Amino acid sequence: MASLEIEHLEKSFGANRVVKDFNLSIAEGEFISLLGPSGCGKTTVLRMVAGFEHPSGGAIRIGGQDVTALPSNQRNIGMVFQAYALFPNLTVAQNVGFGMRVAGRSRAEIKTRVAEMLDLIGLPDLGNRYPFQLSGGQQQRVALARALAIQPRVLLLDEPLSALDAKIRVSLREEIREIQRRLGITTIFVTHDQEEALSISDRVVVMNGGVAEQIGAPFEIYNQPKTRFVAQFVGTLNALTAQVADPARGALRVGSTEVILGAPVSADTNAEVTLAARPEVLALGRREGNDTIFSGKIAEVHFLGSILRVKLEVEGQTIALDTFNRPGNPPPEVGSLAEVSVASRDLLVL
Ligand code: ADP
Ligand code: MG
Repeated sequence: MASLEIEHLEKSFGANRVVKDFNLSIAEGEFISLLGPSGCGKTTVLRMVAGFEHPSGGAIRIGGQDVTALPSNQRNIGMVFQAYALFPNLTVAQNVGFGMRVAGRSRAEIKTRVAEMLDLIGLPDLGNRYPFQLSGGQQQRVALARALAIQPRVLLLDEPLSALDAKIRVSLREEIREIQRRLGITTIFVTHDQEEALSISDRVVVMNGGVAEQIGAPFEIYNQPKTRFVAQFVGTLNALTAQVADPARGALRVGSTEVILGAPVSADTNAEVTLAARPEVLALGRREGNDTIFSGKIAEVHFLGSILRVKLEVEGQTIALDTFNRPGNPPPEVGSLAEVSVASRDLLVL
């Protein structure tokens, strides 16, 4: 268990700069997710922390020790990969004990520790099985046990759940988080799944094109996205084109609809800005406290189980909103005229 500092980290493959001035300071015991689309550099950052890839610039410190030039096997890091990377010809127990055997620990110590690890992942009786005799979820739990058996200072997980079924993915992510909490191990979890990152992390790093666009608690990333990319990648977002009518008053126009934000907007009069709103802050019809009202036509209604996602077309732009599905609350009809209301304080200017 240790803190982890990443400073001005850079990586280029030839002329391709894939990690750019990446800075991150992780507290001891913290659970951090790197979230971003495929190809944004998440794995490359992780591989540099693990020592599998040498940075083009910058420094990595674990527990205050500069490990930038240290070989991977001296960093004391546990790693779990997306694909089941268990040794197919070794039993579960041999897989879990592998790192300790390499490190020259005694048989007795390995035996005790392997049993502890199998207990920890809830598979105490499967030590003699081979990987092919396990489900995908069980294999990933064994991979986790193997990574933890060496008592690493830092745990790195690279999309460990992405090959699993949706249901197992959800239960296993909670299990991973629970084990991480219990051990208090500093963890970096890589994912391209925003729900996964938001649900289990202390803080999320949203990456785009090799850059950390925003670092913050899940609540902050979702509610106060700093860039349009973050706002759109994390959650669903309505991004409406608006014109600034009066920057001092925060008055905007969306087509013929006037929006008064009440706080100044840092843009010139007549400048075009993006007015953003999450589907859940919008209401179908007028609602008390909702001071901005858009009128349009229902374009689509999607039934998503507990919620209905309704799309309203307003002067050529589409506004999506979520409304709870309740019996006796029939969905609006496609093609009918409707109003959508929102409180201006729930709107973001990006
Ligand atoms: P992510 O994990 O976010 O999907 P990666 O870190 O794997 O992204 O890759 C980031 C970029 O770096 C991609 O454009 C990828 O093609 C490139 N890249 C990764 N590894 C190498 C390598 N060994 N040689 C050349 N390019 C690489
Ligand atoms: Mg990757």
